[in-house]
This record gives sequence, C-alpha cells and structure tokens, in this order.
Amino acid sequence: MDKNEIENIGDNHLSTNVQTPLRPDAFEKSDEEKIQNIQQYFSKIMEELGLDLNDDSLSGTPYRFAKMYVKELFYGLNPDKKPKLSVFENKYGYKKMLVEQNITIDSSCEHHFLPITGEANIAYVPKEKVIGLSKINRLVDYYSHRPQVQERLSLQILKDLQYALETEDVIVVISAKHLCVSSRGIKDKNSFTTTIEYGGCFEEEKYRNEFFKILGQ
Ligand SMILES: [Zn+2]
Repeated sequence: MDKNEIENIGDNHLSTNVQTPLRPDAFEKSDEEKIQNIQQYFSKIMEELGLDLNDDSLSGTPYRFAKMYVKELFYGLNPDKKPKLSVFENKYGYKKMLVEQNITIDSSCEHHFLPITGEANIAYVPKEKVIGLSKINRLVDYYSHRPQVQERLSLQILKDLQYALETEDVIVVISAKHLCVSSRGIKDKNSFTTTIEYGGCFEEEKYRNEFFKILGQ
C-alpha cells in the first residue's frame, strides 16, 4: 500500500472482516516473551524520537509500555481470555426486552492505536435462554481490549450474544469518542460516533423505538 492509501484507510474506518485479523502464530509466544520483545522495539522508537533512555523518568517506560500493551490494553486479542458466556434456562418465562445500559467502552483504534472511549447499550428479548447480566459487560470489555474499529466491535458483541442466547433478537448501540479524531487529523473535540447493529425483532421499528425510549429516560 502506498502512503495515501494508508492514510485513507485510517480516516475511513475501513475494516476488512468481522473477525479481527490475527496471524496464525499469534499466541505461540508467551506474554512474557512478547513483553520482552515489545520493550526492545519501543526503546528503539523512543531513541529514534531523540529521547534519552538513561533519564530516570524515561528508563522504565519501554517496559511499562510493553506490559500495558500485552496485559492491559490488548489482553482481549487472546481467545483464552474470552469470558465464558454461561446461559441459563429462561425458567421464569421472561419474554420482554432486557436492557443493559451505560456499559463502559475502553478500546483502541486499530488505525492509530489511540483510545476509543464511550459506552454501549445492549438489549435482547429472551427465548429459551437468559444470560448473567455481568457477562454482557465482560463480553464488551473483552472485545474492547484489542485494536478495534467501532463497527467491528459492535458486530463482534452482537454475534456472540446472538449465538449464546440462541436468538437473533439482540441490539447493540455504541457511542464513543475517538482520540484519533479529537487529538489529531481534524482535531474535533466534541464529535462522537454511534453505531447501531441489530437483528431479529429489532428489525421492526416498534422494538427499536421501545429500546431507544428506555435509553432516553
Ligand atoms: Zn484511528
């Protein structure tokens, strides 16, 4: 890709697939090996920028950076870290909408590796299965903690919930600020991005309206 194409993809939020593009050997190395390697690479970046790594304030930065990438910001790349979406029989026969609101989004954009912060609102209408409420939050947390595109993040959450709950009747709305829009490029401090993905009964306007009415309260 030439430099213009690279810049365009970043600005247009292009993502190629609902799956995060991972290498086949993504998890052959241990976290500790990855931290060690990234620490070295990041020292090089800092040196290239002209920083003196002998300074007490900077000397630990490559290690902190590497640990943050592997263990904190991007732990959700590893499928072993995926929360178990245990579901239960819908014994009480609850058949109306369940809404989980204000779920924290702490993610990073895969085009600039800068923060995406905001919230997700999710609803489903149960059929035979219901899910522990915190599992929804944990799933959002997991998929957020990888380099992301907001559109893909919404779809990954939606598809997993639909699969676990054995119903298409799920809606995922994410509103988030992208630091790559507010702090570089156009530098718009106030704009934010909303994505809405849904299936099943939410194709019908009345279900979406009920959902948005609850969010508006
Ligand atoms: Zn970006």
